[in-house]
Amino acid sequence: MNEQGTGPHGSNSKEIIRKHGYLFIISAPSGGGKTTLSRAVLSRFGDILYSVSYTTRAPRNGEQDGVDYYFIPKDDFKKRIESDLWAEWAKVHGNYYGTSADLLDKGLASGRDMLLEIDVQGTIQILERYPESVTIFLMPPSLETLKKRLEMRGTESLAELERRLLNAKKEMAKKDLYRHVIVNDKLSIAIENLISIIEKYRSAKYS
Ligand code: 5GP
Repeated sequence: MNEQGTGPHGSNSKEIIRKHGYLFIISAPSGGGKTTLSRAVLSRFGDILYSVSYTTRAPRNGEQDGVDYYFIPKDDFKKRIESDLWAEWAKVHGNYYGTSADLLDKGLASGRDMLLEIDVQGTIQILERYPESVTIFLMPPSLETLKKRLEMRGTESLAELERRLLNAKKEMAKKDLYRHVIVNDKLSIAIENLISIIEKYRSAKYS
């Protein structure tokens, strides 16, 4: 981000962003604290629109359809791939996840800033479509910490946990694709850092 806070694109892009809203993308390995951190962002900035993803995985305890995800069957998901209805999609840990192109385009066209919680594969696709997106990667302090967090969460089987850790390693190796990297060691500090990054972009937009 440059000193004017307009991202790397200068004043023309400031005009575009003013009209279309910022796209903030948060990625983190499973158990990396994404959900907690994005909730903190959404409660701090009440006008940011959260992009609810679609997934073919089963809901976890307490997850609500249309709030945490839209839970849809695999064949429905695949049909939407054929009809080109995804802004991005990826197969993660054996399940499909995707962002609806329609929801995203409508949200941005309405001028709202949006928050996406997607993996690295999805981020690469969104950057092709919206290169001015603000990408943020949340790094766990170590793989060992991540493993402990996943074990404490206790929502995955041992095999699933191993799969998520392996994927985490691969994702962490790609962190340099992101414009910002935040180490999520102490939660309150990570939240503060994330909010201040988002604040900077937004204050440039409205100034
Ligand atoms: P979980 O099953 O733990 O909720 O999410 C697993 C992974 O899928 C996470 O890395 C999460 O960021 C990613 N994910 C969630 N929604 C989407 C999406 O719409 N697109 C992509 N590409 N990844 C997603």
